[in-house]
Amino acid sequence: MARALPPTSSGAPQVRPATEGWQQKKDAEGRPLLQFASPKRGKPPVHLADLTPEQRVEKAKELGLPGFRAGQLERHYLTRWTSDPAEMTDLPASGREELVAGLLPPLLTEVRRLDTDKGDTIKFLWKLHDGALVESVLMRYPGRITLCVSSQAGCGMNCPFCATGQAGLTRNMSAAEIVDQVVRANQAIARGELGGKRSTDQSLERVSNIVFMGMGEPLANYARVMQAVRVMTDKKHGMGMSARGITVSTVGLVPAITKLAAEDIPVTFALSLHAPDDELRDELIPVNSRWKVDEALDAARGYFERTGRRVSIEYALIKDMNDHPWRADLLAQKLNARGRGWVHVNPIPLNPTPGSIWTASEPHVQNEFVRRLNAAGIPTTLRDTRGKEIDGACGQLVATEDDEAAASAS
Ligand code: SF4
Repeated sequence: MARALPPTSSGAPQVRPATEGWQQKKDAEGRPLLQFASPKRGKPPVHLADLTPEQRVEKAKELGLPGFRAGQLERHYLTRWTSDPAEMTDLPASGREELVAGLLPPLLTEVRRLDTDKGDTIKFLWKLHDGALVESVLMRYPGRITLCVSSQAGCGMNCPFCATGQAGLTRNMSAAEIVDQVVRANQAIARGELGGKRSTDQSLERVSNIVFMGMGEPLANYARVMQAVRVMTDKKHGMGMSARGITVSTVGLVPAITKLAAEDIPVTFALSLHAPDDELRDELIPVNSRWKVDEALDAARGYFERTGRRVSIEYALIKDMNDHPWRADLLAQKLNARGRGWVHVNPIPLNPTPGSIWTASEPHVQNEFVRRLNAAGIPTTLRDTRGKEIDGACGQLVATEDDEAAASAS
């Protein structure tokens, strides 16, 4: 239930974060439980995309074939998006099935998909080998096609507004399970299943941008997410995507942000901040009890210094909770204190949800928030929230009971 506190000194009410319809799991000290380690579950089958190019060659040899066959297989899967042996006519018929079975085991079973009326957004629900459910959302924009991918089944970060976090962390996804979401999306695009205005250049009809904003906290599954990013960006042995088109987002796992900055892959980095003050952020983003706002911002600034890549600050605008003018000013002050030109802010308008405390800010409040940041010299743009209409927006992806029923029937 919402706990509306007395108005703040500015006169605006202050709604505090609280779960609605579910109980947040708490630790021994009564703080929201954080799960960093993945529960031990049966691992998904090892797949080509989990392996380095050298390991793929070794695996092909183990299967009794010359090592260069691994290269042919990676081109089929990662650039032509097929794992069907019948389409791999450059591979000798003898041993082809075994090679494919050994290196391209099936990972994702499509349970259902939802698309918008115009068909330019598709939400996929996938079942993993152990029955865990994850989602990805494919969106066509003018000049680009973006896929929002999941990196974990469930999530251990326990944010009170997020349906994904309610059940906790089921398990980390493997690198190949992450990559396969991209391959499957590319297959759907190639079959003409994504609506909207198609490009006349067929080579542009593929996923061009990836955002790690589906289920899970990507930096809590660091090694596998980085392996997936390497496969996506590798020009010789991978998908050859631009690292700049890949956005890795986090709620603020500071040591992992520092590690990410030291990788030689200049992905776009996004910090989901949602509050500039620890008092509110401790409740809104429980991991803030571990790493505070200033530490997260210092790490984000460090990412910019190391990579030269401008950092994105994500800020969902929630009515009377975090949308106060003084919070816009405090955010601008904290960002400016760390230099100029290193950051931009993406306020995310929520959908209006009558009766919920997690509802959209008034339009004039949104505009004032954006105006104050821009006036303070912080480039700020309200983000497009495509996907929300099919319940597929970042941090809100969830497998509903209906989805569970569909999965067990499939
Ligand atoms: S908002 Fe993101 S980090 Fe928080 S529980 Fe949901 S998926 Fe996890």
